[in-house]
Amino acid sequence: MEAQNFPKSVVIVGGSLAGLLHGLYLKRHGSHVVILEQDPNAVRSSHQAGIAFGPNTDEILRKYDDTGVQSCIASTTTQLAYRKTWGFHLNIARRLTSWGLLYRILRANYDGLASDAVPNPPPPRKGDGKAEYRSGQKLTNLQDNHDSVTVTFIDQDGTEDSLTADLVIGADGLHSTVRTLVQASTIKEYSGYVAWRGTVLERDLPPETVAYFDGRPTLSFLRKTYLVSYPIPPDAGTFTRTTRLLNWVWYSHAPHPTPLLTDLTGHVHSNTIPTGLVSPSLWRAQLARTLPQMPPHLATLVAATRDDAVFVTRVNDAVCEGAVYGGGRVLLVGDALATFRPHFAVATEQAAGHCLGLGRVWRGEWKLGEWEGEVVRYGRRMWMASRVLGVWGLGGWWEFWGVLGRFVGVLLGGWFGGRARRG
Ligand SMILES: Cc1cc2nc3c(=O)[nH]c(=O)nc-3n(C[C@H](O)[C@H](O)[C@H](O)COP(=O)(O)OP(=O)(O)OC[C@H]3O[C@@H](n4cnc5c(N)ncnc54)[C@H](O)[C@@H]3O)c2cc1C
Repeated sequence: MEAQNFPKSVVIVGGSLAGLLHGLYLKRHGSHVVILEQDPNAVRSSHQAGIAFGPNTDEILRKYDDTGVQSCIASTTTQLAYRKTWGFHLNIARRLTSWGLLYRILRANYDGLASDAVPNPPPPRKGDGKAEYRSGQKLTNLQDNHDSVTVTFIDQDGTEDSLTADLVIGADGLHSTVRTLVQASTIKEYSGYVAWRGTVLERDLPPETVAYFDGRPTLSFLRKTYLVSYPIPPDAGTFTRTTRLLNWVWYSHAPHPTPLLTDLTGHVHSNTIPTGLVSPSLWRAQLARTLPQMPPHLATLVAATRDDAVFVTRVNDAVCEGAVYGGGRVLLVGDALATFRPHFAVATEQAAGHCLGLGRVWRGEWKLGEWEGEVVRYGRRMWMASRVLGVWGLGGWWEFWGVLGRFVGVLLGGWFGGRARRG
C-alpha cells in the first residue's frame, strides 16, 4: 500500500550526493530511476573533501544502506579557538566523513558500483525499482507533456538522446540547468571569499597535534579569517590511524578571485582549482601571511599539507523562490534549490531532508505545496544564517550588522506569512 503514490519513473539530473540520496530512496520504494551526470568519469573525483552530516542523512543510511560499511566518525563536541588566546568546547554532535566515501556507499546501494570502499556491493532488495547511473550525460532541455516530462541530454561527443519520465528531479547543484530551464527566479552571488582546502595523513603529524584535533571539528578564529578542521576517512573508507586524514577548510577574503582560480597552466577555473594544479607560490604566500597568528597545532597541520594536496574553491551562495514546477512534475532539491555558504556544513543534510520530506508527500502524509513551503522557508533561513556566520568569522563588522539585520528580516518574513509560491 505504502508505495502507491511513489512515481513509477523518475529522471534525476545530477549524480552527486543530493541526486544519489533521492535515487536510492526512490529505488527502495519501487520507482525506476535514471540519474544523468554530466561528469564523464565513471566515479567522480572528490579531492578528499571532508563533509559533515546529521540526522536526516543518518536516517537514510540506517534504513536503506545495505553495505555494512562504516560511513563516518561520530563526534559529540565542537572545539572553538580564538587565535592563540582561548578555546572551549560546545556539545554539538556531527557525523564527519569524506564526500568520496559517502558517494561510494550511495553508489554501491543505488546501482551496485564496486569500489575500494565497497568491493562487494549488496544485491538489490525485493521490491526495488531499476536504477541506472549514466555518466557523461548533460541535460540540455526539458519538455512538459502535461502527464510526463521529456528530458533531452547530450554526451561527450555531442550526441543527443532523450528520456520521458513521470517526474524530473533537478539535483544539479549551484549552477542548475533544471532551474534555468524552468525559469525559477534565483538570487546567486559570490561571497567575496574563497575556501582553501587540504588534507594531511594523521600518521604524518606529531601525536599531540592529532590528539588536539581528535574526534571533533575545530573552528579556529584568526584576524579576519578562520579555519575549520576535522578528521575524516579517505575515500576508500578505512578508519585506522594510519589511513585517516585531518581535513581543513580555510576561509579567506578574495574580492577578485580570478588570480587564485588561475591554475599552474594559466587556465582560469570558474569555481574550483583541483589538487595538483594550485600555484605553489600563491599557496605559500597565503600560508606565510597567516601562519604566525595560528595556534601551534593548527600551524603544524596547515604547514604540513603538501602543495599538491591543496585546492581552492570559490564560495558562492544561491537561493531560489520555489521548488515545484511544471504542475509538480519538476522538482528542485539540494544545492539546486538553495546553496549555502558552507559555514554550518548542512548542505548534505538539507538534501537528505528534502528527500525525507518528499517521502512523506509520496506516502500521502503531506501535500506537495506543504513540502515546498517548508523547504523554501528553510532554504531562505539557512542561506541568510550562513551569510551571518561567514561575515562574522571573516571579521567585517559593518557587513556583519547589515547581514544580521537582513537575517532578522528573513526570519520575520518567515513567521508572518510568506508562503512559498507554487509552480
Ligand atoms: C568549501 C566547501 C565546504 C563544504 N563543506 C560541506 C560540509 O561540511 N557538509 C556538507 O554537507 N556539504 C558541504 N559542502 C557542500 C557539498 O559539497 C555539496 O554542495 C552538497 O553535498 C550538495 O550537493 P548537491 O548534490 O546538491 O550538488 P553538487 O554536489 O553541486 O552536485 C550537482 C551535480 O550535478 C551535476 N550537473 C550539473 N549540471 C548538470 C547537467 N546539466 N546535466 C547533468 N548533470 C549536471 C554536476 O556535475 C554535479 O555532479 C561544502 C562545499 C564547499 C564549497
